[in-house]
Amino acid sequence: MPETEKLYNDDPYLAKFKAKVVGISGNVVKLDRTAFYPEGGGQVGDRGRIGGVNVEDIQIIGDAIQHIMEAEPGFNIGDELDCEIDWERRHRIMRLHSAAHIMEHFLWQRLGEIERLGSRVDEKKDRADYAYEGRLPAEELKLVEEDANRFLAEGHDIEILSDPARPGVRIWRCGPMEMLCGGTHVRSTEEIGAIKLKRKNPGRGVERVETSLA
Ligand SMILES: [Zn+2]
Repeated sequence: MPETEKLYNDDPYLAKFKAKVVGISGNVVKLDRTAFYPEGGGQVGDRGRIGGVNVEDIQIIGDAIQHIMEAEPGFNIGDELDCEIDWERRHRIMRLHSAAHIMEHFLWQRLGEIERLGSRVDEKKDRADYAYEGRLPAEELKLVEEDANRFLAEGHDIEILSDPARPGVRIWRCGPMEMLCGGTHVRSTEEIGAIKLKRKNPGRGVERVETSLA
């Protein structure tokens, strides 16, 4: 399958673009280039429109990005189309994804590096599951929220670095924090605003921290 040029890596703020249709199979469309982020790394796939048809989900198979359309499209292979991401939704996802990394930094500062078992961020919230026996202490979580909100308000830059020695690897950096991440992020913590944290217990030995925008 041919590789799709991933425009979201160079510019996560690109919401409108033109692309050529290189494959159609039922309601699945492949483009030569795309700014639609495919589900992966705990981040949900984008929504939007391609050639006026609604996009329901984005998946990646190998290096080919599959745009899953609401219906079988009327356009053809070779057509050059106007594409548009649902930007309001994607921007919330970017704010929440960056916020979740910052929340974790302060969580680990207070409670030690508890193991993250998984995470998922959509436009409503980030859910991060940690291996933890018992209940995450409410007063500690409140302090993590305060630490994170103080840091966010300070307006720190967020950078994405790539490592020439490791092609495809992307590093997220903000102040003293650094981690591997292939998701889309905002440029500054100021863009996030304040966050709220909530604890959940999805199962024995697992504690979930939900991060939402305040
Ligand atoms: Zn991430």
